[in-house]
Amino acid sequence: SPKIEISDLDKVYRQAEEETVALRDVSLDIKEGEFFSIIGPSGCGKSTLLHIIAGLVDKTNGEVKQDGEPINKPSAERGVVFQELGLFPWMTVKENVAYGLKLSNNDKKEIKRTVNNYLSAVGLEKFKDSFIHQLSGGMKARVALVRSLANDPKVLLMDEPFGGLDEITKEILQEELERLWEDTEKTIIFITHDIEEATFLSDRIGVMTNRPGSFRDISEVNLERP
Ligand code: ADP
Ligand code: ADP
Repeated sequence: SPKIEISDLDKVYRQAEEETVALRDVSLDIKEGEFFSIIGPSGCGKSTLLHIIAGLVDKTNGEVKQDGEPINKPSAERGVVFQELGLFPWMTVKENVAYGLKLSNNDKKEIKRTVNNYLSAVGLEKFKDSFIHQLSGGMKARVALVRSLANDPKVLLMDEPFGGLDEITKEILQEELERLWEDTEKTIIFITHDIEEATFLSDRIGVMTNRPGSFRDISEVNLERP
C-alpha cells in the first residue's frame, strides 16, 4: 500500500473577492521509501501541495492520507524543510538540531548523541556552538536538513531546500542528501524547479504544469536510478 495517497485534491484560496485555484484534481500515490520529486514552474501549486501533505494548509476537496489515515494537522511523523529553512537565529547549531527532539524526549544524553551523530554526518561537528548567522548558505541548509532528520520522521517533505545555493554547493548537498536518504530509507517528497536536480535525486518525478484557466495536472515520469 502507498505511504501517501492523494485523490481528487482541490485547493482554492479565497481572499476577499478573489479566488485562486492552486490545485485541481490532483491524484498521486507515493510509495514507502520512495524519493519522489515534484517539478514545475513558479505558481503551479507545488508548495501548496507540500503544505497540504504536511498538514499545514487545509485542502478544499479530496483526500490526503498517510498509511491510510487522513492528514489534517502537522505531525512529527512528517518532517519539513523549507527554502527559507526556518532556523532559529537565537540558538546555536546544536540547539537548533536538538529543538524538536527536546519536545518529545527527556533523555539529555540520548539527545546529545543524536545531535552529534547528525552533525558529524554532514561535517558540522566543529560548528555545533556557532550561531546561524556565522554559517555559509550550504551549512545552513545542512543544519535544516539534519534538524528534520533528527526527529526521525517517516516522511520528509522538502520545498526547494537548496534553492538559494550556488551550483557547486548544491551538488554537494544533493550528494549528502542522497547518502542520508539511502541510509535511512525514508519516504521523501522533494520540490524543485530544477530538472537536473530532480533527475539526479529521484526514483520518480511528478510534473506539474501551469496551464491558463488555473488547471493543474500531474503526470508521472518513471526513471531508473543510475
Ligand atoms: P509554487 O510552489 O509552485 O510556486 P504555490 O503553491 O506557492 O506554487 O502557489 C499556487 C497558486 O496559489 C499561485 O497562484 C499562488 O499565488 C496562490 N497562492 C499560494 N498561497 C496562497 C495564499 N496563501 N493565498 C492566496 N493565494 C495563494
Ligand atoms: P559550503 O556551503 O558547501 O560549506 P562555502 O563555499 O559556503 O561551502 O564554504 C566553504 C568552506 O568554508 C566551508 O565548507 C567551511 O569549511 C568554511 N566556512 C564557511 N563559512 C565559515 C564560517 N563562518 N566559519 C568558518 N568556516 C567557514
